Amino acid sequence: MNPATSVSAASRLVRPAIAAIQGYVPGEQPQVGKWIKLNTNENPYPPSPAVARAIAATVAGRTLAKYPDPHATVFRVRAAELLGVEPDWILCGNGSDDLLTILVRTFVGEGQCLRTAYPSYILYKTLAEIQGAGCEEVMFRSDWSLGDDFAAVRPDLRLAFLANPNSPSGTLVPPEQVRAIADQLPCPLVVDEAYGDFADADCLDLVRQCERVIVTRSFSKSYALAGLRFGFAVARPEIIAELRKVKDSYNCDALSIAAATAAIDDQAWLADCIDKIVATRRRLTESLRDLGFLPVESQANFVWCTHPERPHRAIYEGLKARQILIRFMQYPGWGDGLRITVGTDDEIDAFLACLKTL
Ligand SMILES: *Cc1c(COP(=O)(O)O)cnc(C)c1O
Repeated sequence: MNPATSVSAASRLVRPAIAAIQGYVPGEQPQVGKWIKLNTNENPYPPSPAVARAIAATVAGRTLAKYPDPHATVFRVRAAELLGVEPDWILCGNGSDDLLTILVRTFVGEGQCLRTAYPSYILYKTLAEIQGAGCEEVMFRSDWSLGDDFAAVRPDLRLAFLANPNSPSGTLVPPEQVRAIADQLPCPLVVDEAYGDFADADCLDLVRQCERVIVTRSFSKSYALAGLRFGFAVARPEIIAELRKVKDSYNCDALSIAAATAAIDDQAWLADCIDKIVATRRRLTESLRDLGFLPVESQANFVWCTHPERPHRAIYEGLKARQILIRFMQYPGWGDGLRITVGTDDEIDAFLACLKTL
């Protein structure tokens, strides 16, 4: 069969909202060859050794033949203790992307609207499009601060997403301003803290203070478990109860629940890992500045930078030819730039050495 015909035939079968979109395209994940991978904000260090032990114990305990706990209670109890909330304030997900999907399906109907800042995480817009909803993108100012228009009221607005720290900039909207935004918005505000563990401040207290603030966290970045798929949301129990109606019954598997519980129990590992990454981030930022780039001060595990003269795409391609992957990002109406994940010191040294030769 001619693939072109089959594609167009399929596009007539699906919902028009799906036929019309391109779908989210994740960063490159090469499966063969030896790469220095600085493009999708993974942690360069192996996870806590407690993770492998917990997975082995789960396999040995023969519990894999049974369905997992639909609400991942062991994890919620430990996380709740650590965060100072009750377990019914927590919902677990198959990565935090799963939680973002659940949130959009719960709050935003067809023809309604969600709001995000721009440039930010592109998945928010894709989720709106899948839902047949609109996505209003509020531009960051040139210094990556957020204007009052992010809090503007509009009748069809049902949900707002703020990645904080933001990607690709790594910048943080201060919690006081997030609070002011939440107080003005007519809808829930999701503060996506996928990078929250790397930042100086977070918005967890706001969940207790403001009814409609929801915080999401991921185990993919700070806990070095991107391959495992685990995240959680913190919100009022009334909100969590509604979200539970939308999620898959068994959205987290037994291995990921056991592994994430072991990981969150090892806060010493986390603190040590964050220290290393923050130190390397500082060195990377300074070195980029020395090489004539304009890096943005980051609160995350990556650094966004532009160069006043050199074309960004050529830099990305030059590095890729030498098996070093960074992210070249193009944002229509904003511009382009390079996002570099903080790797190990050796990886960053190799990256910088290669950059100097380009
Ligand atoms: C990486 C990332 C996520 C997704 O995290 P997973 O837990 O791997 O699904 C969510 N939000 C932002 C802003 C991210 O960068």
